Order: sequence, then structure tokens, then C-alpha cells
Amino acid sequence: MSAEQRSRLVVVSNRVAATTKGVRAGGLAVALLDALKESGGLWFGWSGKVSDSTRVSTRQIERGRLSAVTADLSNEDYEEYYNGFANRTLWPLFHYRTDLTRFDRDDYQGYIRVNQRFAHALKPLLRADDLLWVHDYHLIGFGEELRRMGAQQTMGFFLHIPFPSPEVLTALPVHDVLVRALFAYDVLGFQSESDRRSFLDFVATEAGGRIDPEGRAHAYGRRVDTAVFPIGIDSSEFARYAVSGEAKTHAGRMARVLRDRLGVIGVDRLDYTKGLPERFRAFARFLEAYPENRGRVSFVQLAPPSRADVPEYVGIRRELEGLAGSINAEFSEFDWTPLRYINRSFSRRALAGIFRLARVGLVTPLRDGMNLIAKEFVAAQASRDPGVLVLSRFAGAARQGADGALIVNPYDIQGVADAVHSALGMSLSERKERWQSLIASVREHDVTAWRESFVRRLQAAQRADRRH
Ligand code: ADP
Repeated sequence: MSAEQRSRLVVVSNRVAATTKGVRAGGLAVALLDALKESGGLWFGWSGKVSDSTRVSTRQIERGRLSAVTADLSNEDYEEYYNGFANRTLWPLFHYRTDLTRFDRDDYQGYIRVNQRFAHALKPLLRADDLLWVHDYHLIGFGEELRRMGAQQTMGFFLHIPFPSPEVLTALPVHDVLVRALFAYDVLGFQSESDRRSFLDFVATEAGGRIDPEGRAHAYGRRVDTAVFPIGIDSSEFARYAVSGEAKTHAGRMARVLRDRLGVIGVDRLDYTKGLPERFRAFARFLEAYPENRGRVSFVQLAPPSRADVPEYVGIRRELEGLAGSINAEFSEFDWTPLRYINRSFSRRALAGIFRLARVGLVTPLRDGMNLIAKEFVAAQASRDPGVLVLSRFAGAARQGADGALIVNPYDIQGVADAVHSALGMSLSERKERWQSLIASVREHDVTAWRESFVRRLQAAQRADRRH
């Protein structure tokens, strides 16, 4: 098919990465923009602004065939849809934190209202043969709202976070309505096979549906295709970042602090799913169990605060401040600080430089859809002297060619401490061998492969639809 004959791609996500000033940083933004440029396209979502107006502002972000359309949220929308149902209900529940999951009917109504309003705003802009690619847990109901308005286009949905097992999902009072809404799509994409299995399990056990041999789910009188599309990064770009001037400046600053000590690095959004208190305790246990490392190893944790309007995030921040303080009080020497805990964000180039200098990357979420930090750490390493990745078995990244990592259970504090110890003592030849295997997988399953495979699947669904 020539480019001219191809359907236009319409990407719908909570945040739109393209702005009048250019493209917001991030591999995902770049990858999706590439896809949009290739086929001509439209990116629709929240502007990131909270205002009284519910006006939808259209922005042409690039000359040619690409445009971005954004809508503001009202204060009520922001509280109910974004802080409420998306981030206090779905986010904790889908990450298996039923203890932190709060359900509020008003929030749920707000979520539905914003999904409806977004669908309403996009509908008049759609062309008959558009392909729609909707992203993530904020917009589960978006496709169904569009269908209610008569949209016939082929639509796919990709879930960036885990899909919980039916036992966990059914804790949500509106679980059935939500899963039914997913059947408005033609293609459902998951990060890993276990997420897809959880969805199919729900369909079979809770929705009274069936799964056909091609993996399609049938329920509620509808059918949806399901597949796994593990997301990746732009590995060559990240490797270039790691040798940029900015990367070297930051690596130099870190080297001056470390002097000849070995660096252990953790980088995460400050979120209770990332296993940060457990990780801090594991580092303290490592210093207790292997005291010869005191004064010799330093742990640097970067964690910019996120979702500060959600109370659970205030709690985790306080807990970490307390833990960091007590670990440093217990183990510090005049000339050595064991743990550096920094609550701010760094540029991607700076991160790449810091990753490259570290001997160990600690990526220990309690649950994570994929975890791109794990891949970025690998991509940033120098082939001559690569660091070791210590990776939680509960990150999607561990289910995907991660044999080269030291796989840990983040709840096992002693186990993580032991893994840090093994990583620090690992020979150069073993480090190289492990890294070679990791980087091969990071390169193969990069963000372009992810995006292309999803779009191909959508195109196949569109062709199948036309035949019927
Ligand atoms: P999540 O989507 O839950 O935040 P991921 O690990 O999949 O987790 O993606 C996080 C992204 O945010 C990565 O691309 C990473 O580089 C970026 N990031 C995380 N922490 C920081 C930080 N301290 N400074 C800059 N970027 C960060």
C-alpha cells in the first residue's frame, strides 16, 4: 500500500505530547509522532491545563499532515477523572494495591463524563477510514462512548499498566461495566502475556465469554482481538544520550561525589508501586550483612514527586524521607554518605550519563506494566565496562529477554541485598556477557517495533472488518 492509500492514524491519550513549541521529551512521544508523520495523523487528549472553559482548542503542531487537538479539564474533571477514578482507583487496583484503592461514585461519574466529552470533541474530526489508537487506563471507556455516537472506525486500545487478575479486578464495584467497555475496541494490546491472560481469565470466568483459538475474546455479544505488544525505548537514541556532553557533565559530578566508590543507582517516579521503601531497606540490609562495603559503595536514588494532589503520594514521600534519614544517620561516616535521595527530575541526557557511571541499576517495582528505566539503564551502559541490572520479577521488563539481569523478588529484602552484593562482585566477563544478552533484547523490542506491530494489527483488523 502506498502512503497515500494508508488510513490516517488517530492517537488518543490522556496527555498530548506534541505542543506548539515542539514535542515533549520522551521515547513514547517520539515514537508515536513518527507513526503519525508516516501516515498523516491526529493526536487528541488533555492539554494538561485545568481551566473553567471546556473549550477544545485545535493546534496545528507541524506543517504538513500532522495536528494535535487538545481539551482542557475543569477543576471538577481534574479531581474526579484524573486524581480520582484514574489515579486513586484504577492505578492502585491495576497494580494490585487493593489496600490503597478508593472507590467513589462521583469520581466514577466524572471519569465517564470526561470520556464522553473527549469522544464528543473528537467525533466530528474523524474520517470514515481513520484508525484509532487509544492509550491507557484513563480512557478505557472512550471507545464505547465513540461507538454510542455511531463511530464505525477500527479502534485499538493499549494498556500501559498491568491488567490485574479477576480476583483483584472484581474488588472494583464497576468491574463489569469497565471490561464490557473494552469490547468496543477491535484490538486490545497488553504489555505481557500475563496481563493478557488475566483479561482472558476474566472474560471466561466472570463475563461468561469464550476465547477462540486465535486468541479473540467473545463476550457481551461482541468480539475483540487480543495480543501482547511489549513497549520499548529508542535504544540507539538513549545510547547516544549517554555519551552526550550533558551526560558527561552529570557523570563527572557523580564521579566526584563517589570518588573511587562504586555507585548503585535507582531512578523512579515517586510512586508507591516502585518498591522504594523496600529498596531502601534492602540497601541498609546490604550494609549490615556485608559491612566491608561501608565506605566503599554509595546508593543514589532519584525520585521526582508525581501526583502530589493524591494523598497516598504524600504518605510515601514522608515514609521515604524518614527511611533515608535513619539509614544515613546509622551508617554515614565523615567522608561517606551511604544514600543520596534526590527528589527532582533530570534531563534524559543527564540520566543516561548517571546510568552509565553506575555499577548497579536497582529496578525493583512491586508491580509495573513494563518499566522503561530498566531498558534505559541497559541502553546507557558502555560495552567495555557495563553495569549490572537488578530487576524485580514483577516488572513487565522481567518477562522479556531479561536473563542477563539478576532477577529478584522486591519483598525479599535479604534477597535484594544479596543480589546487590553479587552484582558488585561480578567479574567483568560475566557483566559483559549478561549485558550483551540484555542489550540484544532492548534493541530488538524497541519502541519502533512496538508501534509498528500494534499498527499492523490495527490495519489487519480494519481489512478483516471491510471483508465482512
Ligand atoms: P512510569 O511510566 O510508571 O513512570 P517507566 O519506568 O515505564 O515508569 O517510565 C518512566 C519514564 O520517566 C522513563 O522514560 C524515565 O526516563 C523517566 N523518568 C523517571 N524518573 C525520572 C527522573 N528522576 N528524571 C527524569 N526522567 C525520569
